[in-house]
Formats: sequence, C-alpha cells, structure tokens
Amino acid sequence: MNKDVMLERLVKNGLDFLEKAISELTEQPKYSVIHFHAAVELFLKARLMAEHWTLVISHRQEPDWNKFVSGNFQSVSLDGASERLTKIVRSGLTKQELSVFREITKHRNKMVHFFHEAHSEEENKEQLRDIVKQQLTAWYFLHKLITERWREIFEPWKIDVANIDGELRKLHSFLQVIYNQISPKIENKKLKGFTFKSCPSCGFDSQEHEDELKEIYDASCLVCGLSEKWLKIECPDCSTEVFFENEGFGQCDNCGKKFEPEDLASELIDDGAAHVAAMDGDDSWDMGNCNNCDGYHTVVRTESDKYVCASCFLVLESLQWCGWCNEPNTGDMEHSHWAGCNQWGGRAGWEKDD
Ligand SMILES: [Zn+2]
Ligand SMILES: [Zn+2]
Ligand SMILES: [Zn+2]
Ligand SMILES: [Zn+2]
Repeated sequence: MNKDVMLERLVKNGLDFLEKAISELTEQPKYSVIHFHAAVELFLKARLMAEHWTLVISHRQEPDWNKFVSGNFQSVSLDGASERLTKIVRSGLTKQELSVFREITKHRNKMVHFFHEAHSEEENKEQLRDIVKQQLTAWYFLHKLITERWREIFEPWKIDVANIDGELRKLHSFLQVIYNQISPKIENKKLKGFTFKSCPSCGFDSQEHEDELKEIYDASCLVCGLSEKWLKIECPDCSTEVFFENEGFGQCDNCGKKFEPEDLASELIDDGAAHVAAMDGDDSWDMGNCNNCDGYHTVVRTESDKYVCASCFLVLESLQWCGWCNEPNTGDMEHSHWAGCNQWGGRAGWEKDD
C-alpha cells in the first residue's frame, strides 16, 4: 500500500459518493445530503493526502501509517482541513468556499439529527429545491478547485469528474419552476437597465449585473442564490468592456490584453486625486497592502472613495496604517508597530534577530 493508492481510493470514494447523492436525491433526500457532504470532505482530504498523508488525520491523534491504511483513525474536520490547506499546503480555501462548504456540513448535521419526511407534495418539492440549490452551489466551487486551482492533483480523474459534472448540472431542471416564477421580474429589471448573464452554477440567465464601470459589485443569481464579486472596466487598449470574476486576473475578449491585479489597480485608482494628494504630502491615497489575500500594493482608493483590493476584490470604507512600515493595510493594524503587517515583520521580528 502506498500513498498513491490511498489518494486513488479517496478520489474514487468522493466520486462514488457524488453519484450516490445524485441517484438518491428524489427518493432518499436525506442520504443524498449525507453522501454529498462526505464527497466534499473526501476531495479536500484528497488534496491534503497529495501533500502528506498525516494531514488527513485529526490533530488529536498521533499519526500511525498502519492504522491509517486500515482506516482506523479519526480524520480532520472541515475547519481543520481548511486551516491545513492554508498554512501547510499553501493553497487554501477562500472565505466564500469555506462558508459554502460549512453550509453543507450544517445541513448534513441537521439532516442526520432532525430529518423529517415531507408532509405534502409541495413541501417535498420545496425540500428538494433547497437541496439542489445547495449542491449546485457547492459543486460549482468544488469543481473549480478540482479542475483549476488543484488541477495537477486531480488530472488523472479528469474524465470521471467531467461525467459527474454533467450529471450534477442536470439537476438544474429542479429549479426551472423558480426561473419561470421570477422571469417576469427579470424582464422588468432588464427594462430598468440591469443585465442578466448565465449563472455558472445553475445555468439559467438569472445572474444579475450592474451597469457601472470600475465598481466591484455582487452579482447574485436570482434562481440558485450564488453570489460572485464582479467588476467591469473599459479595456485601455481597445475600449471594449472587460469582465473580472472574483479576482483581478482577466483578459480582454476583443484584443487579448491580459490583466493582473497590478494592472487593474492602476485602472481603478483615482489618478488625478492621487497625484494632487502626493503633491500635498497627503498619504491617504498611497497604494495599500491586503491582509486578506496577501497582496502587495494591490489596494487603491477609487473615484467613489472606497478602498478596493484589485486582487481579491475586498472593498472597505476606510483603511488603517501599519505602525511599522507606514503603509495602508486592509487588516487590523492596532498592534502593528510591534507585530508588523502581512508584508513586514514589525519590531518583534527585528529584535529577534539581535
Ligand atoms: Zn444560479
Ligand atoms: Zn482590449
Ligand atoms: Zn486582497
Ligand atoms: Zn506594515
């Protein structure tokens, strides 16, 4: 038995549980929720496993390979896994991913302890729609992890993952009734200038978009509830609109210009005001650092007088200045003179070297 065999097992089980979750949905919704939850955890554990097998084991236990291969161990919790993904694997979950997965855990626990059979056909359908919304949203994030951020690890199961993806997406038919109900509202909003795009999770044309450029906004799906942070700018080379989803990496569809957070930062900053401020010795327009994504000089003050991180799309009304490096930062800088910020170690690090 080696590590690769164990990884294979975790992934195969994850895929298997997803299949179960789909097949049980209408007849045994309770088991669908339980199996879906197990699948999410298995994929996170598989990512940990690829790093090192001991990461899969709860911190309360001494890692023991023999016990591990025989399945005789307590495994890491969702929050524990998330912490290890960030601190050890250094490919952590975003806040949004973690909160969506936590919902899956919560729902699973509720189902295990308090599940009751639906009392009417309508109640039954309602329950199914809730489950479908949750699973589609969680799958949207999990699928992105498996096929993008952690692609190298899960590449060997690419075809199985694509098959499951196809199966899960069929579930959106359960949400058709919601879409039908709200389509008049959508048509109305279109008349008022909102645009709607296809939702990457449920596939209906129900993701609501705002009109303004250079403003980070929440694009929410009126059918499944998925919410993403979006930003539109005008391409500086060809004046076509360029879209960014959740992060400051993107490309102009028209001329092919690529954008990284630092390019975006220079598009978002209020140049005029920043220039005048610099002449006056006013530091409130200085480029800041982001505690949320560890971005260096990704935080800018915009024309609408908000502080925006061009990398992770965090938006704040105000910033604090680091007492150590004197630069603005999105984090809490109360003890920064001593502890520093995400960029610099502060006095504590300085004195340690003496
Ligand atoms: Zn949706
Ligand atoms: Zn362009
Ligand atoms: Zn950031
Ligand atoms: Zn600092």
